[in-house]
Amino acid sequence: MGKQLFKYLGHILLFVFLTLLSQVGGLIYLLCLPIFKYFKPRIARPIWHISLNIGIFCVLYTFTTFIIVPPLAERFGRVPMPYDEENPNLRQWNRWTVLLNRHYVVPELRAVTEGVARKMAAADTNLVITYLDCNFPFWDGFPLEPHLSHNDGRKIDLSFFYRDAETNKVTAERPSWLGYGVCEEPRGGEENRAEYCAQQGGWQYSFMRDNVISQSQKRRLPFDEKYTAALVRFFLADNRTKLVLIEPHLEKRLGFANQAKVKPPPCHSVRHDDHIHVAIY
Ligand SMILES: [Zn+2]
Repeated sequence: MGKQLFKYLGHILLFVFLTLLSQVGGLIYLLCLPIFKYFKPRIARPIWHISLNIGIFCVLYTFTTFIIVPPLAERFGRVPMPYDEENPNLRQWNRWTVLLNRHYVVPELRAVTEGVARKMAAADTNLVITYLDCNFPFWDGFPLEPHLSHNDGRKIDLSFFYRDAETNKVTAERPSWLGYGVCEEPRGGEENRAEYCAQQGGWQYSFMRDNVISQSQKRRLPFDEKYTAALVRFFLADNRTKLVLIEPHLEKRLGFANQAKVKPPPCHSVRHDDHIHVAIY
């Protein structure tokens, strides 16, 4: 009885974890359970059985993610952002974003971002806009953890632009493997919202920077003010853009202090001097 309960609990935890991570992963896991059960008595060694289960899940997950989800999501009003080589000036930073179905948006947001990418490319053909987390493919209101608002297809996170310290040229490299957590911090005299939010009890505000991501790439890849400001400017020039979140010291430094649509994130969110968040109407 105890063993059975433990097994069910394991299934539930795995279902919840895979659902929060990729939206469809939990459902695919449930569909796999009868297949796992079919093979269990036929394979003697547990290690082979577990390996086979992982293999079956991976094949079904990949098939669903790349073949079934995109056309189905489109029927429900969301499309994938361009990835890999689809658009030379607009792509994901981390391949996991695409593998985990975290790159879906409403068609308008894809159009807005593609328009900005075209304008950036007109300034310099080597400029690549890299996006981070977007939204899941289905269901308005379904949260994309750990974000507070990426739940309606109308939100996208984007990397800043960086230069290569050796060549001083703008680069497609980014200082954090995850895309988040390497911060362009306030200088002396600039507003320090991270400090303020920590005092207000926002323990998570700088969590990624302080505990998860190494800051060591910062010197190799200095922040590029010019193109990061151009990125924000091009989004603001499109009147479908509703909001751009960025830390107040960068808002001021990049010249957007008087822009009503550019705002600091709330203290119960996370710091935005490692990426920008764009929302459309
Ligand atoms: Zn965001």
